[in-house]
Amino acid sequence: MTVYDLIIIGGGPSGLFCALNAGLKGKKVLLLEKNKSLGKKLLLSGSQQCNITHEGETRDFIRHYGDSEDFIQTCLYNFSNSDLVLFFRNTGLSIIVREDGKMFPESLMASDVLSSLIKSCTDNSVDIHLDEPVLSVNCENNLFIVKTPIKIFKGKTCVIATGGLSYPKTGSTGDGYVFAEQLGHTIITPVPGLTGVVCENYGFADLSGISFKDVQISLYHGGKKQRERDGDLLFAHYGLSGPGILDLSRYIRPGDFLKINFVPIQFRKNFREDISKRIIASGTRLVITVLKEFSIPERFILKICEISEVARDLKCAHMTKVQRNRLITNLTDFPFRILKLRGFNDAMVTHGGVKKSDIEEDSMESKYVPGLYFIGEVIDVDGDSGGYNLQFAFSSAKLAADKIVNKKIHRRNPEAL
Ligand SMILES: Cc1cc2nc3c(=O)[nH]c(=O)nc-3n(C[C@H](O)[C@H](O)[C@H](O)COP(=O)(O)OP(=O)(O)OC[C@H]3O[C@@H](n4cnc5c(N)ncnc54)[C@H](O)[C@@H]3O)c2cc1C
Repeated sequence: MTVYDLIIIGGGPSGLFCALNAGLKGKKVLLLEKNKSLGKKLLLSGSQQCNITHEGETRDFIRHYGDSEDFIQTCLYNFSNSDLVLFFRNTGLSIIVREDGKMFPESLMASDVLSSLIKSCTDNSVDIHLDEPVLSVNCENNLFIVKTPIKIFKGKTCVIATGGLSYPKTGSTGDGYVFAEQLGHTIITPVPGLTGVVCENYGFADLSGISFKDVQISLYHGGKKQRERDGDLLFAHYGLSGPGILDLSRYIRPGDFLKINFVPIQFRKNFREDISKRIIASGTRLVITVLKEFSIPERFILKICEISEVARDLKCAHMTKVQRNRLITNLTDFPFRILKLRGFNDAMVTHGGVKKSDIEEDSMESKYVPGLYFIGEVIDVDGDSGGYNLQFAFSSAKLAADKIVNKKIHRRNPEAL
């Protein structure tokens, strides 16, 4: 029976990237994928355009991974966003930067990214088996025994790249957690990440599709403010979405409150005083006309006035102080009680997974089973929206491959040592 140098379980971006890098260095690599095709989730990424990474220096980049900043340092210093861009450029795929810093293939086609990864795998003699789900992984006498319905394979090393639980229809159904647990690792309970939130008594369903640039979002847990950030917000039919909400979702739990300041950033400072003065000085003008001067979307103005019991034909001179205060509070501090996060079918990533402290951060190797590695979304690491999750999939894959082929690893930021 062939003994592979490396068996990789999962043919998503992390598995493919690890495979091609190990293959490139002459390792005999087997990649097992349970679907009939590779990279199903990658094909959906960035609305099928694939937001592959984000621009920025590594020291800033690592701040986009919540509480995983420390764990991912070596990974990203060893293989950064510019290394990724260079890799794809060398395969003939140009990467462009959008105004907001997100990076995409120039063709804006995720399928081009996938084709490039698959071609590099085949060029480097990676043995790819499709439609072959791994059923179990064991380690006996320093060899990994990997079972599929068709065959039993043996490998000197093994990489688990099975993804998390988000978008299960793409193949990520949590199998990697079972393998990891059976081999003695702890799983941090997976919950949906980068997802919208369902709100109690949500009154904005009819405004679904309206978005706001850089609103101020505050998260309250047990009555205490936990976090505050500026970000884009989108009214969905079920509740709140948009990048600002998605990025915060890893911290949101049912029962929490989100308070939103809808006032555009350029008017936010002294808004209460400014709008009060304008209303008091505006006599026969309509309140909604004054509100429009603050660049607030018109349909939202009508809705927030209705909620604040301010008639759409109310003139400024007739507005009571109580009405004015209620309207200003609703514009600057509107509370949404969270019923639940959207489920795994809608979540772009998984928050939770194989416990970071069970994994060597300088190699992605298990601390308990030598030769076993975890890469990509199966680990309890999730980044903000904007290309950070694919970058982690690639960087963690490269780090594991470098360790497996004994390549020199560029450790964490030398300035931080
Ligand atoms: C709709 C959507 C859009 C996204 N857009 C972006 C974006 O633009 N930018 C970004 O950075 N991130 C984006 N993400 C997140 C990103 O796609 C993931 O973080 C990334 O795909 C994780 O890569 P992975 O290789 O770790 O796991 P996956 O891509 O989930 O791949 C895991 C693979 O393992 C296979 N597998 C599972 N179990 C077994 C088994 N038992 N045997 C064999 N094979 C198995 C699966 O079939 C799958 O092919 C998006 C996610 C979604 C859902």
